[in-house]
Amino acid sequence: MIDSSADDWSFATAREPARFGAGERDDVPGVEHAMTAGGTLCGLPEDQVTRYRHLFAPRDPLACPQCRRQAAAAPAEPSAQERLHDLVLAAAPGTARDDLLAGLAKGAKVGLWLHGPSAALARHYAELDTLTEGVGPVAEAFDAATTIGLARVEDGSWRFLVVLPDDGGRPLVARGRHETG
Ligand SMILES: [Zn+2]
Repeated sequence: MIDSSADDWSFATAREPARFGAGERDDVPGVEHAMTAGGTLCGLPEDQVTRYRHLFAPRDPLACPQCRRQAAAAPAEPSAQERLHDLVLAAAPGTARDDLLAGLAKGAKVGLWLHGPSAALARHYAELDTLTEGVGPVAEAFDAATTIGLARVEDGSWRFLVVLPDDGGRPLVARGRHETG
């Protein structure tokens, strides 16, 4: 179980450069811009731009220089581990929560993280019968909500289930032993 690369893992090293979709101004084809929520990074409004399904490639010679500069200056994006860690901080204190936080800080694998109808998620992804700690509140949360968020984390012999209520309520943490062999 010794994984030397895991020693180097941290939230900081796991951050990735921000990525953007690509777009082209309708009346000036041949220059690709980086797309953000309401238009391009360099300030063109949405209604003047066609969005492409591929990502903005800053090194592409056709890339808009201003979008290239702004994309390079954009803050790096946190890993799934870091984002989930920040959410789980709001969970009720307890051993499972603390172990999960420690695991995420070391790069524990986030195997699944999704959102959808509670009943379907409980049936297909929660695997409630494999949990040994915290299963009661988690099952209640699935029953009580129409839609819900769910994450699964594997850390050594533990498999964690995190339930993220839509209503802003505290995340719930449950876990069970990982079956091996
Ligand atoms: Zn641009």
